[in-house]
Amino acid sequence: TGELSGQATTGELGYEGALRPGSLEEFVGQSRVRQQLRLLLDAATMQQRTPDHILLAGPPGLGKTTLSMIVAAELEKPLHQTSGPAIQHAGDLAAVLSALTPGEVLFIDEIHRMARSAEEMLYLAMEDFKIDIMVGKGAGATSIPLEIAPFTLVGATTRAGLLPNPLRDRFGFTAHLEFYADDELESVVTRAARLLEFDIAAAGVSEIARRSRGTPRIANRLLRRVRDYSLVHGVAGGTDAVQAALALYDVDAQGLDRLDREVLRAVVERFGGGPVGLSTLAVSVGEEAETIESVVEPFLVRAGLLSRTPRGRTVTRMGWEHTGIPMPPVS
Ligand code: ADP
Repeated sequence: TGELSGQATTGELGYEGALRPGSLEEFVGQSRVRQQLRLLLDAATMQQRTPDHILLAGPPGLGKTTLSMIVAAELEKPLHQTSGPAIQHAGDLAAVLSALTPGEVLFIDEIHRMARSAEEMLYLAMEDFKIDIMVGKGAGATSIPLEIAPFTLVGATTRAGLLPNPLRDRFGFTAHLEFYADDELESVVTRAARLLEFDIAAAGVSEIARRSRGTPRIANRLLRRVRDYSLVHGVAGGTDAVQAALALYDVDAQGLDRLDREVLRAVVERFGGGPVGLSTLAVSVGEEAETIESVVEPFLVRAGLLSRTPRGRTVTRMGWEHTGIPMPPVS
């Protein structure tokens, strides 16, 4: 994935960290989710217990990691961060769980990619704050129950549908994060520009917001590219700088990046506009099916350019228009 796509690249992590809102009040948009979290956290604090486990679902860059940090900050508890791919064996999870301190918040990013063997351990831990440690092998193997500190799990996933039901059922609250509206992204950009002490015109802010794929991470990243441009060329942060910088990084007027356009073009040029199955499409653009499904498609569908049908993916009339290729007459 490239510089401007949904995934974080290591070089920009410090930048991302500096722009993360630190409280629910500072977190822009997602007002329903914020109200729901507020109630959940306040009730737990009043009863002096750990809140229910929380599942955050939605495309990358919409604020899942940020919300997990906010949950820990609001509870005034430490946060332990790990991810599904880092948990390859039940033992990896046992090590994390047994080291938790009372009330700690455990964040597991990409929880749908955790090893199957660890899932059962997690069920028991979530429910009873206990784990079973297996000792020995074969017929002599026994399991020793171990109490762990009460904790709150915050799981994040781009694919809620991939979680096994027993795991999904153990979360007391599931939040589905939605793409942000343009005015919300304007607030994100304005806030970030203020923190970066970058003077940008209101028209530049709305141009960035409109071209950020509904995603705060991308909005912040585009802002940084515009700031680079304005610095290097010695021009003000207005719409001209925005347009020039975004053209340089291949972001088009609707905010589609190179991969978004490639997917649209592939469906149109190689599959007559569809329907085409996910895996065939993934192979034809040389990307992983998971990236297409969890990063590219949600945005194209939301923008009205692509639709998902039981028979596969189809480019809409608007999608055809976007590619500039005339749509064949319907026979
Ligand atoms: P995810 O975990 O869903 O991929 P992150 O929480 O890492 O997304 O957010 C990516 C970046 O976008 C962070 O730098 C954060 O500052 C910014 N961001 C995300 N959501 C918001 C929001 N609601 N308000 C302000 N900034 C946000």
